[in-house]
Amino acid sequence: MNAYDFDLFVIGGGSGGVRASRIAAGYGAKVAVAEEYRLGGTCVIRGCVPKKLLMYASQFGMALEDSKGFGWQVPQASHEWESLIRAKDAEVDRLEHVYEGLLGSAGVKVIKGKATIVGPHEVCVNEMSFTADHILVASGSKPEMPRIPGAELMVTSNDILAMEHAPKRIAIVGGGYIACEFAGIFKGLGSRVWMVHRGRRLLRGFDEEVREHIGSELAANDIQMRLASTVVAVGRKQDAYQLYLESGEILEVDLVMAATGRRPNTDGLGLERVGVQVDARGAVPVDGYSRTSCDHLYAVGDVTNRLNLTPVAIQEGHAFADTVFGNKPRRTDHDGVPFAVFSQPQVAAVGLTEEEARERHGAVRVYSSGFGPMRATLSGRNERVLVKLIAQAATDRIVGAHVVAADAAEIIQGIAIALKAGATKADFDATLGVHPSVAEEFVTLKKARYSTRQES
Ligand code: NDP
Repeated sequence: MNAYDFDLFVIGGGSGGVRASRIAAGYGAKVAVAEEYRLGGTCVIRGCVPKKLLMYASQFGMALEDSKGFGWQVPQASHEWESLIRAKDAEVDRLEHVYEGLLGSAGVKVIKGKATIVGPHEVCVNEMSFTADHILVASGSKPEMPRIPGAELMVTSNDILAMEHAPKRIAIVGGGYIACEFAGIFKGLGSRVWMVHRGRRLLRGFDEEVREHIGSELAANDIQMRLASTVVAVGRKQDAYQLYLESGEILEVDLVMAATGRRPNTDGLGLERVGVQVDARGAVPVDGYSRTSCDHLYAVGDVTNRLNLTPVAIQEGHAFADTVFGNKPRRTDHDGVPFAVFSQPQVAAVGLTEEEARERHGAVRVYSSGFGPMRATLSGRNERVLVKLIAQAATDRIVGAHVVAADAAEIIQGIAIALKAGATKADFDATLGVHPSVAEEFVTLKKARYSTRQES
C-alpha cells in the first residue's frame, strides 16, 4: 500500500504543471495539482493566448490604414475595447474548461488554493495537509514592478487584460518582450504610445542588428521612443498620470504600464523548509532533469528561470514525468528553441546571435538583408524587413537565424527544423523559394561578411 496520499503533488496548474500531471497520471501515478487562481496558468489566462488575441485585434487597425493604398474606401472606423475583452474572456474561459476536462479525464485531482511545502513529502493547501512521494513545483512567475516612487500607480499586463477602457495615451516602461508586444497592440488600437526604456536598444539578449532594426521599426510606426531613459517617479493629477524621466521630461498619459520583467513565484512556497535555496532572482535551481537539491522535489517552467517560454515548460514537465514515472530518463533540450516577440513587426529567431556565434565559433559568415516588403509598396507604410543567417565558417552549418517581419513567428518555425537537422548554408542555397514571399529571402541570401571573435 502506498504510504502517501499521492504519488505526485504538483504545485501550479499552468502549462508545465498540467502536462506533467497528465503524463504522470498516464503512467499510472496518483496525481493531485493545486492551483490558486485558474487552470491554464500564465499562458492561457493572462499571457500568450489573450495577448495574441489582442494582437490580432490591433492588426486590423493597421490593415484598415494600409487598405487605402489597395483601393479600399474605409469609413472612419472605431474600436470597442469592451467587446474585444468580452470575446477574449469567453475564449479564455473555454480554454480553462478544456484544461479542466483534460485533467479530469486523466484522473488528476484538482485542489483549489495556494499550496505551501511543509516537508519533503508534505504540502498544505487551505490548512489541509497532503502527502506525496514526489512534489513538482510549477508555480510560474509574476510581474515585477520597478522600485520608484509612484510605482503603485502603474499597471501590469495582468491588469490590462481585465481593463474596462483602452487608454488614449499610454506609456510603457521596459524594453523586453511584453513592452514591445503591448506597444504594438495599443498603437494598432489607436492609442498614442510611448516606450520608455533604460537601455539604448530594445530586447536585451537578442542579436544587436535585430535590436537596432526593431527599434527603428517601432519608431517608424509612430511609437514615441524614449531610449536610454530612466523613469524616476510616477505621479497622478486628476485623471492623468505623469511619468517623470531623469532627463527632466514629463510625459502625461492616461495609463502607465510596467513591463519590467517577471519574477519566479517562490515567495511563501516553503522551499526553505526542505533546504532548497532560491537564487538571487528568486528562481529554483535545478539540474538537467529538473531535480532540486531536495530528493523527490522537482521544478519546471518559469519558476526555474531557464528559458521562460510555454513550449519549454511543457517539454520540461513532460520530461520530468517520463523520467520519474515512465522509467524513461529524459533531459529537456534547451538548445535550438525558436522564439518570437509578437511586436508589430514581429521578431523571431532560433540559434545564436551574431555576437554569440563569433564568440563560440571564432569565425562566422553573416548574411543579412534589409528590404521593403511587397505589401508596403502600395500601402505606403514605412516598413523594412530584416532577414539574417549566420553560418559557422569552418563547417558552413547555420548556427543562427533571425527575422523581423510581419509574420516572423510563422517563418521561423520551419527554419528551426532546418537548424535542428544541422542544415548548412549550401542546403539553404539548394532550396527554392516560395515566390513572392518574405521567407524566400532565407534561401536567396548571397553576400556574406565575415565576423570574427575580438581577441582581447
Ligand atoms: P523581459 O525580461 O523580456 O524585459 C524586461 C525589461 O524591463 C527589460 O527591457 C529591462 O531592461 C527592463 N527593466 C527591468 N527592470 C527595470 C527597472 N527597474 N526599471 C526600468 N526597466 C527595467 O521581461 P518581460 O516582462 O517583457 O517578459 C518576461 C519574460 O516572459 C520574457 O523574458 C520571456 O521569457 C517571457 N515572455 C515571452 C513572450 C513570447 O514568447 N512571445 C511574451 C511575453 C513574455 P534591461 O534590458 O536593461 O534589463
